[in-house]
Amino acid sequence: MLQKYVFLFFTFFCATFISNCTGKNSADPNNYSASSGAAADYNNEDYMLFTSSEPLEPEELTAIKKFMNFYPDLDFTAEYDTEFSDWKLCITKKVFLNRPEKSDAEKALTRKADFYWAGGRLLPKSELAKKDDYWVLQYKYENTLRDPKTYTPEEIERIKDFGSSKNRRNDNGTPMFFFDFIYSAKSRPIIEEHIIKTKFLGKTTKVHERIFPALKRVEAEICLLAAISVEDLSTAERIGKIDVTSEKLTDEQKEIRKFIKTLRSSDAYYWREIAGTNRKSFHSYGIAIDLLPQRLNGRSIYWGWEKERSGDKWMMVPQEARWAPPQAVIKIFEEHGFIWGGYWIIFDNMHFEYQPQLIQ
Ligand SMILES: [Zn+2]
Repeated sequence: MLQKYVFLFFTFFCATFISNCTGKNSADPNNYSASSGAAADYNNEDYMLFTSSEPLEPEELTAIKKFMNFYPDLDFTAEYDTEFSDWKLCITKKVFLNRPEKSDAEKALTRKADFYWAGGRLLPKSELAKKDDYWVLQYKYENTLRDPKTYTPEEIERIKDFGSSKNRRNDNGTPMFFFDFIYSAKSRPIIEEHIIKTKFLGKTTKVHERIFPALKRVEAEICLLAAISVEDLSTAERIGKIDVTSEKLTDEQKEIRKFIKTLRSSDAYYWREIAGTNRKSFHSYGIAIDLLPQRLNGRSIYWGWEKERSGDKWMMVPQEARWAPPQAVIKIFEEHGFIWGGYWIIFDNMHFEYQPQLIQ
């Protein structure tokens, strides 16, 4: 059995040399049909393996296609590079997206960049030797809250270390190369050509043009669930008139309406480095949005502020003592590709971030 699999892998590699995988979202898996002709010399059992309706392809190529499916606006080709024993992706993006006011020539502009898969990190060739210093871009997003009372003393120490300024400085953390490319985030003047000023739940905000449709869908669904219209949020006066007590409303509608009425701001784009690190925050890409309420009423909302208030015990604040958006609002964000920072141990309950590849 083992020999058979060794052979199968060999076949994959042969096929790799002769056929690239071309993809857009719908990357045709049949492009990758491993050489079925070679199977004729083998016994029936082997033959079945090669003619199965499921095309055989290396696990990593499957993972690459799965990842790229979360970014349907991008085109890509993937080719196995034997020199680096890794998959090389050539990704093409449209420079401007969702910008009806741009000229046809600007709308047609594209850019290309090469990345190595690097086990799910999408690194440029120059970073391959340091691959292990980086986190992978796709991991399990835990959308449950663990009771801090269940943290062991060892875990508390690790959490403290993780939040310490020393650790946050040294860690390479998330590789930003892929994001720098797709969001044109190399420098402040460049990215600002792609930032759109808009409103979210009645508050002025600036977001990246690539996530604009997703954010508008989130807003429309929140309004639908609260049984209000986006026009009801057009002025402070209209927001003030939204009824939150009518007996006709469900408890969920009341909760969402109150959340909207008491929202102070929904700031997204903001060019800054993450405190204590060399990296940029996702706010610098215009793909993270902070929903801040007018009043916290003593509740905790962000680990850093809690650390200033209560020192090293910041992670022990029980969930019920933390401010959070309504559960239904968090769910809507997730359905449109945004993760919520309230599920992080290093909690940031006002923060949503567009990371569609993390929502499985
Ligand atoms: Zn934030």
